[in-house]
Amino acid sequence: MSFFSTRGGACATASQAILWGLAKDGGLFVPSMFPQVSMERLSAMAGTSYQNHASRILRDYLEDYSLAELDDAIQAAYDPAEWDDPTIAPVRTLDPTLHVVELFHGPTLAFKDIALKLLPHLVSLAAEKNDEKREVSILVATSGDTGKAALEGFKDVPGTSCTVFYPHEGVSDVQKLQMVTTGGQNTHVIGVDGNFDDAQRGVKKLFGDEAFKEKMNELGKMPSSANSINFGRLAPQIVYYFTTYTRLVKRGKLRMGQHVNFVVPTGNFGDILAGYYAMRMGLPIRRLICASNKNNVLTDFFADGTYDVNREFYKTSSPSMDILVSSNLERLLYECCERDSEQVKLWMQDLAESGVFCAGVKNAKELKKIFWAGYADDEMTAEEIRRVFEMDQYLMDPHTAVASHVLQQYRRETGDQTVAVIVSTASPYKFAPDVAASLLGSEAVEGMDFFACAEKLEELSKVPMPKQVRELRDLPIRHNAVCAPDGMEEAVLSELKK
Ligand SMILES: *Cc1c(COP(=O)(O)O)cnc(C)c1O
Repeated sequence: MSFFSTRGGACATASQAILWGLAKDGGLFVPSMFPQVSMERLSAMAGTSYQNHASRILRDYLEDYSLAELDDAIQAAYDPAEWDDPTIAPVRTLDPTLHVVELFHGPTLAFKDIALKLLPHLVSLAAEKNDEKREVSILVATSGDTGKAALEGFKDVPGTSCTVFYPHEGVSDVQKLQMVTTGGQNTHVIGVDGNFDDAQRGVKKLFGDEAFKEKMNELGKMPSSANSINFGRLAPQIVYYFTTYTRLVKRGKLRMGQHVNFVVPTGNFGDILAGYYAMRMGLPIRRLICASNKNNVLTDFFADGTYDVNREFYKTSSPSMDILVSSNLERLLYECCERDSEQVKLWMQDLAESGVFCAGVKNAKELKKIFWAGYADDEMTAEEIRRVFEMDQYLMDPHTAVASHVLQQYRRETGDQTVAVIVSTASPYKFAPDVAASLLGSEAVEGMDFFACAEKLEELSKVPMPKQVRELRDLPIRHNAVCAPDGMEEAVLSELKK
């Protein structure tokens, strides 16, 4: 399998796409085709482990990895000892047409662990395969959860280092605490005085800056990406769409071949794009429902094909979705215009120059055959957390609750009662103060710190507090660098020289 750039640049192998992160022309790597999974193959996977699904799905994309290499990487990434559920992505049933796939049982309690536990192994192998002797220096911009997941994934992996930029005032207290307490000899954490888009733009700029790359080269380092633009991040996410489906079949909740809807809390568009790839591979998905918070640029895009980031940026109770430029959308646009990379280039140019591009009503209409989009503000989200807990005794974090709310909207507006799966992206404990306030009212939790809120949740829900939360209280702070959005280059070079 070869990989193309969405902007028309040269071909790459899977390991090159993973090693380089971004294509030289600034585009994103996309697979040359979607390997097909027949109903027979899907039936054969049903009842097997998460690891086996991963092996079967990924081998077709990662062709220049040997099967043994791939399986070793998968076993290391999804070692049950490091996940608090041995099935990795368990599926809960709320009612016969409503299920939740929980992607938060890894070390950082959020879905990004699924990809970021595997990626470092793929990167390390990719460096070997391409005879890369320099240190692979991962640079990451995070809206909250990616940062910690990347740090944990790359921590002390030989031949790599990991530097994370996060919006200094734009992540939750615990997200910040999780990052700045990270151990390991090769981890770096830098706050940026700006929002996530500033941090992401800064990292993208560094990747395109030849002078910066030369300075890194002199230090014996090669910058690379672990953001969700890296194909090595995207590919592992395809897997849980398949495991969810076969597990529902196995339990008699679905007939093999029956269609299902997924509703996905969306920020950078990586998670839901993996669902789209699963669908293109043959998984029977009817609708992919794109759920946004008040930063609803995607909701508007799916309505009329116009993507416009010239709008107010809101901090919400679902901070990992506080994003205006959803980088992975470029991969969907590429498929939508039938792989016309010249067209993609023009749209991306418009976006870079004026903050707007128009994909047109015709493209929007095509996309609407598969996608549906809606959003929930913080009030609706809090109400949804309470409604679901009261009705089903099920505790949702704010990101998951945004999706749950949008699914209700979708069903009301379309009447479509197709079996639906909510993709749950974070543990309610990760956002304990907001979840506790949603259940009890903000007065009841006033003055309580994060840990007191977490204890309150445990008492209410009887869901045990994860040990990752319990431990956090006593870890020392190891990282305190902060820089301006235009000082990121200097900051990373000074960290890496330490
Ligand atoms: C990253 C993240 C999302 C958004 O996923 P994308 O792939 O960026 O769309 C949603 N919820 C949580 C908890 C996240 O960490």
